[in-house]
Amino acid sequence: MFDEKNEDCLENLNDGSLEKFADKGFNKLKSVTPHIPLGIVSPDELIKIAEIAKKYNAVLRITSSQTISLSGLSEDDRDLVRSELEFLNRKKRKRNSEEQFVLKSFQSVKTCRGKEFCRRGKQNALTLGLKIDNIFYGTNLPSKLRVAVSGCPFSCSEPIIRDIGIVGTNNGYNFFVGGNASTKPRFGILFKENLTENCVLEYINAIVNFLIKYNSKKRLGEIIDIIGLDEFEKEIQNEITK
Ligand code: SF4
Repeated sequence: MFDEKNEDCLENLNDGSLEKFADKGFNKLKSVTPHIPLGIVSPDELIKIAEIAKKYNAVLRITSSQTISLSGLSEDDRDLVRSELEFLNRKKRKRNSEEQFVLKSFQSVKTCRGKEFCRRGKQNALTLGLKIDNIFYGTNLPSKLRVAVSGCPFSCSEPIIRDIGIVGTNNGYNFFVGGNASTKPRFGILFKENLTENCVLEYINAIVNFLIKYNSKKRLGEIIDIIGLDEFEKEIQNEITK
């Protein structure tokens, strides 16, 4: 139940800004969600983002995709904020992508802390996640493709419910396909076991090429349901041996 106490709570959390934006009508307000690979920012970058949010009176929100969105902007301010956030554009844009802030079909890669920062880690999820993001983020596809990498089977980045889920093991990476959250949640299928980092990149590349060729708006799991896992495997092997 949303009572007065909860309202106070929101006010304390957000300095009253949520109510202010509710008055303006959230639906009419715009957001900017820059691509921040794996959600890693330097303290200076974080300060700059906060300063921009203050300047344009935006609500800052840490998103589930490990980025930061600036919400509650007018259309004009949205364009200004986009250009001010250009400093985050640290890498060359990827193939087929034209613009940094539009959600591209190959979405930001989500990872856990990996072996780099977690004592349970079996593989370097951050390193592999960054490589994947760097190569594939922004690639135009007929449908969304979400990828998550975890450094061990605890699966803190939820790879089992991503189109492609990668899980560190003692001997490499297990590779899951076809998972999804959204309105039709489903677990991914264990497709390959104990892959090397290069093999993971090769399989992702093959799946990307397959999706471009298959040209369907359906998510990967639904496509696998339609053509069958054996046929999917054949298609992927064909792409790899091309
Ligand atoms: S998935 Fe494993 S390595 Fe990654 S944060 Fe969780 S426990 Fe640590």
